[in-house]
Amino acid sequence: MRNFSRRHVGQLLLLGLSGAATACVDRSRYSEEDAAGLDAQREAERLASGRGPFGPQRYRGYRGLAELPWFELDGTDRLRLVADDVPRAIDVHAHLGMSLLFAPELDLQRRTPRVEHLLDCDRADPGCALDLDVYINSNFQPADLRGLQYDAVARLLWGSSASETHTLANLRAEMDDVGVEKAAVLPIAFGLPFGDDLAERWLDAISVSETPDRFIRGASVHLGDDAWREKLGAQAARGARMVKLHPAGQRYFPDDLRAMEIYEECGRLGLVVFLHGGRAGIEPEYAHQFTMMKGYEPMLAEHPDVDFVLGHAGARDVEDAMVLGRRYQNAWLGIHGQGVTVLDRLTREVGPERLLFGTDWPFYHLAATLAKVLIVTDERPDVRHAILRGNAERLLA
Ligand SMILES: [Zn+2]
Repeated sequence: MRNFSRRHVGQLLLLGLSGAATACVDRSRYSEEDAAGLDAQREAERLASGRGPFGPQRYRGYRGLAELPWFELDGTDRLRLVADDVPRAIDVHAHLGMSLLFAPELDLQRRTPRVEHLLDCDRADPGCALDLDVYINSNFQPADLRGLQYDAVARLLWGSSASETHTLANLRAEMDDVGVEKAAVLPIAFGLPFGDDLAERWLDAISVSETPDRFIRGASVHLGDDAWREKLGAQAARGARMVKLHPAGQRYFPDDLRAMEIYEECGRLGLVVFLHGGRAGIEPEYAHQFTMMKGYEPMLAEHPDVDFVLGHAGARDVEDAMVLGRRYQNAWLGIHGQGVTVLDRLTREVGPERLLFGTDWPFYHLAATLAKVLIVTDERPDVRHAILRGNAERLLA
């Protein structure tokens, strides 16, 4: 009964938020044609799945990846990397559980028997249908998406039970299972009136964890925060190497003049700028205007000395992201989300030198992205090394 009423509160809140913002779509930024392009991308992807150079790549849950030659299930049914010639990976894109506004604080050092990934593909046995030849969030079913919305509200109000399993200790255990040496832990500042200090809390959590060196520290600030400059400086002074900004989540255009100032400051502080890039397709529709790839070009052009990572390689706007990746040497593409056929194209059409391994944990098991890299680079050890760690080492040197 309690959950029932909570769910209703959540739905009302979401309706209110998206309703208020629908009026704010800037049609000069986001046309009907742009919206139609997203539908076309989805349909083309659906038709092409399994017809690329790697054939069908469909598995039952993350555990199902044990069918691949590089993985096995151990005695406790955990998926493990067993190939000993795979370079130890550096994951440039991970997050932890979030508790914001009124939600109670999480214990980020806690170890739990299993991780409830946001795509909780191993909940049942056999696991959910996992297609590695589509943009990864296509694997969410409608009920999963409703669960995601509910979880997003829970993280603001009463706390999310999934988030309780998104701890540093659980992340490290999964890293150990599949040979990930380091992971960048990227907070997001949402611009909430209180309870919005993920960057500071996650820096604290890393500093008291058993293995602080396994984590690359992340920063985040919000454009609307008058104190962003001091906060960013303080986060950098505490060892942050990458700042995460999220045009959809933070509701801003990447070429906003206030954001340009932040990028410039990042350059001064030696921080890599990691932006969520492109339309994922599962966010509220009015947020799509913020992540059209054309909006990312001015920052790349005007800050040639700042390194930018375009998260998800532009997600469903990957074609446009590839253009930027070819045009700008300071554009790095995070590969998380892209299916094997597109990932293969990225290595050939943009080149492997600025592609970065990232997983978006805890949305998905680390092995979901790792498996794709291994499939695509089976005959190309240099490309595999570059994507899994060499490029990240160069970026963060
Ligand atoms: Zn992310």
